[in-house]
Amino acid sequence: MTWLLALDIDGTLAPIAETPSDARVPAEVLADLRKLAARPDVHLVFLTGRDGAAAYRLVPIPQATFAPEHGACIYAPGELKAWLDEGGKAPPLGPALLEWEKRCNPPEGALIERKTTSLALHTRRLQPGDATKALESAATLAESLGLAVLRGRGVVEVAERLASKRDALETIAASIQPQRLSYIGDDTTDIDALLWVQQQGGEAYFVLSPERPTSPHPDLATLATISEVWAWIGSHVQTSRAGPKISSC
Ligand SMILES: [Mg+2]
Repeated sequence: MTWLLALDIDGTLAPIAETPSDARVPAEVLADLRKLAARPDVHLVFLTGRDGAAAYRLVPIPQATFAPEHGACIYAPGELKAWLDEGGKAPPLGPALLEWEKRCNPPEGALIERKTTSLALHTRRLQPGDATKALESAATLAESLGLAVLRGRGVVEVAERLASKRDALETIAASIQPQRLSYIGDDTTDIDALLWVQQQGGEAYFVLSPERPTSPHPDLATLATISEVWAWIGSHVQTSRAGPKISSC
């Protein structure tokens, strides 16, 4: 049985930190993920808003498939590490993104993260009222420049075209044809992929958080805390592999 296990990273594997560079996946969780990735029946996928380099820093597991920047790029097993080993050079950002970066002018304490195909404004160090104002003004500026906007937990992402985790997951699943499909995520950008997994008969869990304390959709199952995600992963490491096939002859 092939199991496609797809996971978001921030808020799902790594607790949300004040700045993106402070986030870490606990060593025990990484060890469990490595054990799952080593199993021939498991296809591990990381679907994240991070860029490839940041995603790989958080979960350095070469056997996994990576779909960074909300699925704007998809790296098959080994490809992301190979690209990073070669220097990880990305094409330059387009003029509208550079203009947004120049004019965004975030308040002190906020920061702009540069990714491969997109930019993100992070406001976790601001007071909630100031953060909302900064995020809205950044989103309005992006829309006036014709850019696509994705709103997340204390962050606004801007890109030339809107990528979708659902599209990335559908593409990956089509190439793997798994018998079992699971996805866990914690933010509004995960909902389309979670609902799609559920429609396919898979397991989908939304991770609750102070910013998202209830399920965003009545049909979605939830995990109450990030520790429950870690326990769920740990419980599957212990699960024995499928037994040998019984011949019908
Ligand atoms: Mg997340």
